Amino acid sequence: MAESKQTSGKPMTLVDPIDMSLLDAKFRDDIKSMPDGEELSACFACSTCTAACPIANQWTYKPHQLIRMILLGMREEVLSGKEIWECLTCFQCQERCPQKVRITDIFFDCKNLAAESGKVPEKVLAIAKELIDKGQLYVVTSDWEREDLGLEAAVPGLSTDGIRAILKETRTGRLVKGGE
Ligand code: SF4
Ligand code: SF4
Repeated sequence: MAESKQTSGKPMTLVDPIDMSLLDAKFRDDIKSMPDGEELSACFACSTCTAACPIANQWTYKPHQLIRMILLGMREEVLSGKEIWECLTCFQCQERCPQKVRITDIFFDCKNLAAESGKVPEKVLAIAKELIDKGQLYVVTSDWEREDLGLEAAVPGLSTDGIRAILKETRTGRLVKGGE
């Protein structure tokens, strides 16, 4: 085993010791039972996903490590980490996986599991609140792009009332209410 400077229970890399008593095999089964998780066990740790990921160098745990952590049952580390929420959903990893592991979709499943247990970062809740309040994340205004295209300045007939009403009744709405 490689020498480690770790002093607390949470491993910082996957060469640090893992406390086997904290592993939760049900986590792997939870993910595998989801429509995107069927190929999870086919991962052979080639790291192609990490090589393709444009932001992996910003993460403590890289995509191939997160997949390994799911297989090991490291529920707490995966669902409490920032990585699943910072995924750009660019699908570069998933497109290149030689084993057809649906990595990006599995990270979506992880976000859903995290949300069910209330582990949603504040900044994500703030974005969800913006969506609920305004019906859109970016307010469409008159700008040079519309003018360049010869369009009238204001977007005609734009109403977000319907989408706001729908969103309030969704899990997003319930999450935002829970965060208030
Ligand atoms: S590319 Fe696929 S097989 Fe390779 S480590 Fe990533 S998930 Fe596993
Ligand atoms: S989908 Fe997410 S994990 Fe996959 S390459 Fe893009 S940012 Fe990285």
